[in-house]
Amino acid sequence: MSISHTNEMALFDNNVQKYCRFFELASPQQFTLEQWYQVIARTVLEMAYHKPQGKVDEQRHINYLSMEFLIGRLTGNNLMNLGYYEDIKAYLAQYQVELVDVLEQERDPALGNGGLGRLAACFLDSMATLGQAATGYGLHYQYGLFKQAFQDGKQVESGDEWGRNQYPWHRYNPSKTQQVHFGGKVVAIEGDRYEWQPKLTIEGKAFDLPIVGYQNDVIQPLRLWQADSPQSFDLNQFNEGKFVAAEKTLIKSTALTQVLYPNDNHRVGQQLRLMQQYFHCACSVADILSRHLAQGFSLEEFPKRQVIQLNDTHPTLAIPELMRILLDEHQLTWQQAWSICQQSFAYTNHTLLPEALEQWDQRLFKQLLPRHFKIVEKINHLFHQQVKAQFGDDAKVWEKLAILFDYRVRMANLCVVSCFAVNGVAQIHSDLLVSQLFPEYHQLFPTKFCNVTNGITPRRWIQQANPALSQLLDQTVKGDWKKDLELLHQVENVVDDVNFREAYWHIKQQNKAALAREIEQTLSLSVNPDAIFDVQIKRFHEYKRQHLNLLNIIATYQWLKDNPNKDYTPRLFVFSGKAAPGYYLAKNIIHAINNVAEIINNDKQMKDKLQVAFLPDYRVSLAEKIIPAADISEQISMAGKEASGTGNMKLALNGALTLGTLDGANVEIAEMVGQEHIFLFGHTVESIQTLLAEGYSPKTYYRNDPVLKNAVDFLAKGKASKGDKTTFNLMLDSLLEHDPFLVFADFESYRQAQERIGQAYLDRDAWLRSAILNTARLGKFSSDRSIRDYQSRIWLKK
Ligand SMILES: *Cc1c(COP(=O)(O)O)cnc(C)c1O
Repeated sequence: MSISHTNEMALFDNNVQKYCRFFELASPQQFTLEQWYQVIARTVLEMAYHKPQGKVDEQRHINYLSMEFLIGRLTGNNLMNLGYYEDIKAYLAQYQVELVDVLEQERDPALGNGGLGRLAACFLDSMATLGQAATGYGLHYQYGLFKQAFQDGKQVESGDEWGRNQYPWHRYNPSKTQQVHFGGKVVAIEGDRYEWQPKLTIEGKAFDLPIVGYQNDVIQPLRLWQADSPQSFDLNQFNEGKFVAAEKTLIKSTALTQVLYPNDNHRVGQQLRLMQQYFHCACSVADILSRHLAQGFSLEEFPKRQVIQLNDTHPTLAIPELMRILLDEHQLTWQQAWSICQQSFAYTNHTLLPEALEQWDQRLFKQLLPRHFKIVEKINHLFHQQVKAQFGDDAKVWEKLAILFDYRVRMANLCVVSCFAVNGVAQIHSDLLVSQLFPEYHQLFPTKFCNVTNGITPRRWIQQANPALSQLLDQTVKGDWKKDLELLHQVENVVDDVNFREAYWHIKQQNKAALAREIEQTLSLSVNPDAIFDVQIKRFHEYKRQHLNLLNIIATYQWLKDNPNKDYTPRLFVFSGKAAPGYYLAKNIIHAINNVAEIINNDKQMKDKLQVAFLPDYRVSLAEKIIPAADISEQISMAGKEASGTGNMKLALNGALTLGTLDGANVEIAEMVGQEHIFLFGHTVESIQTLLAEGYSPKTYYRNDPVLKNAVDFLAKGKASKGDKTTFNLMLDSLLEHDPFLVFADFESYRQAQERIGQAYLDRDAWLRSAILNTARLGKFSSDRSIRDYQSRIWLKK
């Protein structure tokens, strides 16, 4: 036990003994692992607030609004950040209890879908670590993202009741309760003044999770709102049954925050989702304002003291909500209110995919939020004047820029018009944002747009996920690389050091062995630990092209069957990821991968040569197990479609070599690690334009490439579906008829890259060198750097 923690550990022991009596046990020896987990979390939470709090910079308070926070397990992370990890590990040893086993008891709070929610979690960690005053605002869903299992190869979903009421890290904060109103009507009182007479009121209760900075004693809240009024409401009370099927209209108010919508990069469009969004925004804005006013500041000082950062358009309603409060409750003039809003909100765009850009039905919006609709109408009207002044009365231009158009409310446009900053999440994405999605906006507001490349927190993604590598880096790097990831550059000095190389290689092999055990346990599949571990872990989406990976696996299988004696570097292909329950094509791809895996894994000729492991229920804690074991990181989206990606960063930092297209942050990863240490393939944004202009025909590729044809036919002829030729029609028809994400166009190039990988792995020294240099050169992708960029380019920009 470290000397400095003697007092705290005495307190810890005291609490353990207290809980022991509380549970009527003779000794802590009798605690179950679950009890240990609860006792440790509750005790450490108290200890954390016992200490004097670390200093934060309050120049401007960052209010990070996000419908999703994919925080993952908190216990291990908080122990490390608070500096108690080793002490508690040693304490438990006296009872023959392993801390890692205790930590496994925690269920991931899966309050997010994927990258967007995980980014929010990494950012909170970094803001606390950098001492940037911040509060995260989200929703306290009863059910997190669904649990995924496979039945006959198909994804089946079940509810993730993650136990929010027993979660030891949160505390209910009744002093922060808010009232949120819906529906009703707006009456004009005098002049420009209106009064909203709502029809329904729902209570929002605050549940705070502590976000702990890395060894700086800063703790900031992630405030999650939970709908908790006893009464029920009729969804049709807003719209006379026009939007919702009649039998499902009577809803308990608590249902509002019951489920996280399981869509990723796809808009939802349901009334309940719009209600969730407003509920989130109304609670958060009220809370921000009351904190600001309680500190003794005036409304005019709001923009100077506060930033409301919108994580995608999901919290856009915070803009008209703040307008409403300033106009109706504080009687500010439109000019005053608009000026405050325009200086306070900033918007992060996460996608160029048209199917993901949020738009709401105007009637639905108006019935649910009549006062907000009036405000949006006025913003839209005033903006129209501005557009006419700049572009003349051009209907074509207005069609693109309008906030209200064709009976829809376009949330991204509302954001760009209202916010003082708009950022993309990787350089290529920010460039495309300006050139493709918002060129006219860029002409109107050239200084609003900027880039902040995403990042990941090294505390979770090395220190916690890969403790062995973390220790090696501690021994190798001068200074604390966990606080300044650029220090990893020092690793370049030891890339030729035999001891370091051996240690690095050994850690990777150990991590692979550990993953092999995990695979054995979950899938009863015994894998070759010496194979290349080729990993694609992420949400299932056509643009991410898991089916490109699959077609190569099938083609490889066919080649190995035809050439049993030829050299082939053994591969283990690892997949993990969920598809939205209503995204049938993505689920079809999952089904195909599972069925192909079954055939390959049961083919004795393939043993230790070619294997496929699809681990179900991808989530943060599973990512932490897969990533340290990866040799290859598949980042194979169609160029121009992946805004940034963060999985690519986690994997490369842990020494996996990227197999990727020039898309999202892959571009910057390639710049940092150097072309010799990454496997790039496929069409670029530019060459895609040419290809599409010439007229893309996937069938031509299918006819002209026998390898591709055989792989496709394997599925089409029912060889992976017990002879049924229709099982994979959804995927195959899409590929053969349209192939909107150019899988066939990139197939050949992808095959060649895989060939290069097989060759490269044979030269162990060169491979190891590349892996080490990936770790050494990835410092840029710390989320600490992202947050510093937000500070200098957006929040604190001079
Ligand atoms: C990092 C992460 C993601 C994002 O992965 P991408 O490859 O960037 O899409 C999604 N889910 C989880 C659980 C993650 O940890």
